[in-house]
Amino acid sequence: MSKKKAKREGSFKRAIELLESGCSTRAAMRHLRSEGYGADTNMIMAAYELADIPDCKCGRPNGHKGWCSERVKNSPKRQAYLKRVTKHIRQQANAVA
Ligand SMILES: [Zn+2]
Repeated sequence: MSKKKAKREGSFKRAIELLESGCSTRAAMRHLRSEGYGADTNMIMAAYELADIPDCKCGRPNGHKGWCSERVKNSPKRQAYLKRVTKHIRQQANAVA
């Protein structure tokens, strides 16, 4: 087996591992790149088809729509957004009172 091919297969196996551990496809790509593997969308989607992906930790199926406690917990951007919006709503409520 060529070195290049071996590396590609390694990254594919690692992609499946990451997806099965609960990583999103984006997070899996990020991890793969930080570990020195190549990662592209086609490869991740092929791994996604093969992987036995667990349900979201909030209890809904993997890849469900919308936000949930688990997604907010894992996303500083979502947390910042919620903080901003609740602050705005509080200010509005105070202005009315
Ligand atoms: Zn969820």
